[in-house]
Amino acid sequence: MDNIKVGVIGVGHLGMHHARVYTEILGAQLVGVVDINEERAHSVAGPLGVIPYSTIEAFIKQTRPDALSIVVPTSYHFEVAKIAMENGIHVLIEKPVTSSVDEAEQLLNLAVKNDLILQVGHIERFNSAVQHVREFINDPYFIQTHRMGPFSPRISDVGVVLDLMIHDVDIILSMINSELVSISAIGRCIRTDHEDIASAQLTFANGAMAQILVSRVSEKRIRQMEITEAERYITVNYETQDISVQRCVRQSGGNLVEVMEHPVFPKTEPLKMELQHFVSCVREGRQPMVGIKDGKRALEVCVAVLRQIHEEKNSGGSILSAI
Ligand code: NAD
Repeated sequence: MDNIKVGVIGVGHLGMHHARVYTEILGAQLVGVVDINEERAHSVAGPLGVIPYSTIEAFIKQTRPDALSIVVPTSYHFEVAKIAMENGIHVLIEKPVTSSVDEAEQLLNLAVKNDLILQVGHIERFNSAVQHVREFINDPYFIQTHRMGPFSPRISDVGVVLDLMIHDVDIILSMINSELVSISAIGRCIRTDHEDIASAQLTFANGAMAQILVSRVSEKRIRQMEITEAERYITVNYETQDISVQRCVRQSGGNLVEVMEHPVFPKTEPLKMELQHFVSCVREGRQPMVGIKDGKRALEVCVAVLRQIHEEKNSGGSILSAI
């Protein structure tokens, strides 16, 4: 079968890696990159040996791609995805899928109507540590996550809930197999007009709970998840892809001893896994592991978190004012 012709729209901080990885995937052919910043488009296209474009329309007309990665700022995801999908092109849209749930719903309908693959870039699903943990977890009753790091002015169109918390929300929803029944959240603006720190507590119908803490104004970079089950405690480091499993074992004499295990498994580049999956879904015409319904669900939860943060502000609290 012919190569799947792919392109990348928006080759900034993350999009340049999408473009690079596509050149490394068997069965995919990068046919061009697009950025409204022409200098940026040239600087990414040159080393990869592809043609730069400054508009998606010109790119589609010239190359007739099969599939696109959309890696423009979140506020432009919807308009760019709509153009691609109306032209019958399969899309991988970076997270958060859109700025509003209504836009996500419109893209869902467009994907169904035009029979298109629409994958959402929840990259942590392709993290080897997450995939390995998923193979052996049973029934988590508590998940706690920390996703924190120093301030960078790069992402200015959304706050920390849509930028960072959405990763953890998606992973938690995919691991706790029960209906989400309540959300409680707080947040603070520190360096920007959006929330820079936020904390959310999720409660599920089966009694499971999750506690998510995200910050883009912290000293140390941390990307960690702790999963508590009845008989063990699992820690996942998203960045190093290390897992530790702590549990108590009763010895023959009746004493309880603590055992710590560090499972060994192959570690891979999550972005490469994600894009390989997208290309194979396009090739085989099958639904992706993280589709528009998952992207929309994670967005809905984050919108509810944001609503709570703003309601608290409007109720007279100083939740969104700088500390
Ligand atoms: P960025 O600002 O570094 O890059 C965006 C690029 O898009 C810029 O070069 C800009 O010139 C270009 N652009 C803007 N509008 C355009 C348009 N209409 N057509 C073509 N190009 C356009 O941003 P980034 O950090 O790369 O983030 C991009 C997206 O990726 C955001 O939605 C962000 O949430 C997401 N993201 C996801 C992850 C992840 O872990 N999955 C990590 C970082 C960013």
